[in-house]
Amino acid sequence: MLQKLTRRLGVPLLLTTLLAACGSPIVNPVTGQAERSVMSEQMELTEGAKAHQQVLQEYGVVKDARLQAYVNKLGQRLAQQSHRGQLQWHFTVLDSPEVNAFALPGGYVYVTRGIMAYLQNEAELAGVIGHEIGHVTARHGAQRATRQQDAGLGVLAASVLGAVLESQGMSGAGQLASELSQTVASGYIASYSRDQELQADSLGAEYLARTAYDPRNMVNVINSLKSQERFAADQARAEGRAAATSGNWLSSHPSNDQRLQQISQQASQLKRNYADDGRARYLQAIAGMAFGESADQGLTRGQNFYHGDMGIAITAPYGWKIQNEASQLALVNPARDAALMIKVAPPQAGRTHDEVIRNLLKPSQGRTERLNLNGMQATRFVGSRATNQGQQAIDVTLVTGPRGTVFVMVPAAKNTNAQQRARAGLAQAQGSFRAMTGQDRAAARPWTLRTTAYPQGGFAQLAQRSPLPQAEAQLRLINGYYGGGAPRVGQLVKVVE
Ligand SMILES: [Zn+2]
Repeated sequence: MLQKLTRRLGVPLLLTTLLAACGSPIVNPVTGQAERSVMSEQMELTEGAKAHQQVLQEYGVVKDARLQAYVNKLGQRLAQQSHRGQLQWHFTVLDSPEVNAFALPGGYVYVTRGIMAYLQNEAELAGVIGHEIGHVTARHGAQRATRQQDAGLGVLAASVLGAVLESQGMSGAGQLASELSQTVASGYIASYSRDQELQADSLGAEYLARTAYDPRNMVNVINSLKSQERFAADQARAEGRAAATSGNWLSSHPSNDQRLQQISQQASQLKRNYADDGRARYLQAIAGMAFGESADQGLTRGQNFYHGDMGIAITAPYGWKIQNEASQLALVNPARDAALMIKVAPPQAGRTHDEVIRNLLKPSQGRTERLNLNGMQATRFVGSRATNQGQQAIDVTLVTGPRGTVFVMVPAAKNTNAQQRARAGLAQAQGSFRAMTGQDRAAARPWTLRTTAYPQGGFAQLAQRSPLPQAEAQLRLINGYYGGGAPRVGQLVKVVE
């Protein structure tokens, strides 16, 4: 989170140029049929390239050249076997704990390190990448842009925008923030149609088989991710809250029996001489990868959040959740109707608190109050600004952190009642914002994926050495044994240290 959002405040995400107005016929590379399209191949390339830069800024890439090269090489092999082998393909591992993969028009494919942690071998990764390649080769993004223009939605660049939004899901703090502030359009999410998803599955299975991976690995991926969802739901139930409904690759890609059945059926028809599943290579490639949040993004440990680079820490009140997103940090109350949101003021907004208030908040009137927040210089501003809908209230606190970064803290609530109920919690959360102490630094250690031989004592034994909160269940999960069963003693398995 945090350091990335400075870029985000000023520039709307994926603001792209308008596409051609009415559309002309393009031959679909997969079907060979002409289809009317608002997006030529050249536009796919230029829009994709532009959006690619924004995705890189938004997420950041995993800084491990060896891992990037491994994924790129696998992707290129699959792409060469696809219907658009002549495109210049790009495969990137994003530095995100989200369990996700997505593609942009023109040949840009992304997998998160979050999804990679849950995959068991190279063939499963190939399954995810093959599916995304299928969206690109069949021009699903361009088709969506055309559909949207036909529907008069006026979101001409939505093929690109939608690809990213779909992949992010609209769960979590982003959604809460837009509900609360109502300043962001509630999020028109364009997803691929069911037929497009099935076609991407089918194409993925075909590309897998052509690259000598058993297409049945795509079934394993779906089952693994189903377990991951089940774990999240079990966790939510144990904590007495509703499970998040979206946010991973599976939820944006309908996973029904039809889908599994289609892949299995197709797999049995495709050729049967497959190379090995590349498990050893895969485990070697992901060893050393961060698990969960990375230090760059800030770390959540229990009720605490730490950002080592910025040198700050904050503690959520009991029962509150910490949501660490690229655009902001949010501490959300148990009723989920109030939150303390923290953003970083972009450097160009000014050096002093007064400048930041003037340039960033653009108030029409209000008053400031100088504060000292745990030794840091702070300013509270209460006032309002003129908007199209009339005067909008502003109540923010600016804090200068130990590295000179200006943080903007916004206590937000759905309505006045919620605000009243959450008042004490919001104040407590804000009051805990501090420069990292020695104790905070010791607690802020990122988690890392490693491999080890499966011991006699099983997952229970491995769990004893793991810092994960639900270690045994989580170790089972990342190794594909959430439902039960166990690997052979001595077999290489993933652990988190
Ligand atoms: Zn898909």
